[in-house]
Amino acid sequence: MALVDVKGVSKRFGGLTAVSDVDLTVNAGEVHCLIGPNGAGKSTLFKLIVGLYPPTSGSIFFDSIDITAERPYARVQRGMSIKMQAPSVFKELPVRQNIQVALQERLSGAERVAEEERLLSLLNLAEESGKLAGALSHGQQQWLEIGMALALQPQLLLLDEPTAGMSPEETYKTGELIKSFNAEGMTVLVVEHDMAFVRQVAQRVTVLHLGKIFARGSLEAILEDEKVAEIYLGKTHAH
Ligand code: ADP
Ligand code: MG
Repeated sequence: MALVDVKGVSKRFGGLTAVSDVDLTVNAGEVHCLIGPNGAGKSTLFKLIVGLYPPTSGSIFFDSIDITAERPYARVQRGMSIKMQAPSVFKELPVRQNIQVALQERLSGAERVAEEERLLSLLNLAEESGKLAGALSHGQQQWLEIGMALALQPQLLLLDEPTAGMSPEETYKTGELIKSFNAEGMTVLVVEHDMAFVRQVAQRVTVLHLGKIFARGSLEAILEDEKVAEIYLGKTHAH
């Protein structure tokens, strides 16, 4: 069953077509990776799906409902939760309070405290809970932001380059975290550069190149596709 269905979506910025007539389906229950060289249009497509940009043309469906005209907040209420490429934690607030802010609409009192503890330990941030978020390492800030997205208990978790700036160990831990959410039924769409991470988590992969769909399929099929290796591997380290 398609949870997200992007149909013929394009986005132009002046004379530049960043996303061109893209069809993309994310099935309920899968971890889907969106990959492609720098400048391929991945972040633009991501922002179209979460509602930060209106498309120039085309439609986007969530759970079979046309959400093309909906604001990001309405999409979040439908069950989407978003982590953008640049971490946007509240740096001047303690780590725990960042999680509190994300939880406060859904939970209060002892229930909220229990969920704070659960998320902090899940994210390996329990010992940092009193530190200002701005004092965390870049990788820890990424985890904190993933935790804030998770606090909404989304049906669909959308992550744009969640492992940017992480060490290989942190990247691996992030992959295991994502697999554990997915095992509990959460659908995940990840924009990612790091192929080791894609191998670790992806079930299906969509490859974007110059704003267009270049290839799509199972992880195995994409890894074996020589055309993908040519466009992707040649440029992946330029980022
Ligand atoms: P990726 O995430 O795959 O690296 P982006 O979606 O960020 O690619 O960018 C795709 C293309 O669209 C690039 O050429 C980029 O310069 C351009 N672009 C992205 N956002 C904007 C914007 N807000 N205004 C103008 N051009 C943009
Ligand atoms: Mg990007």
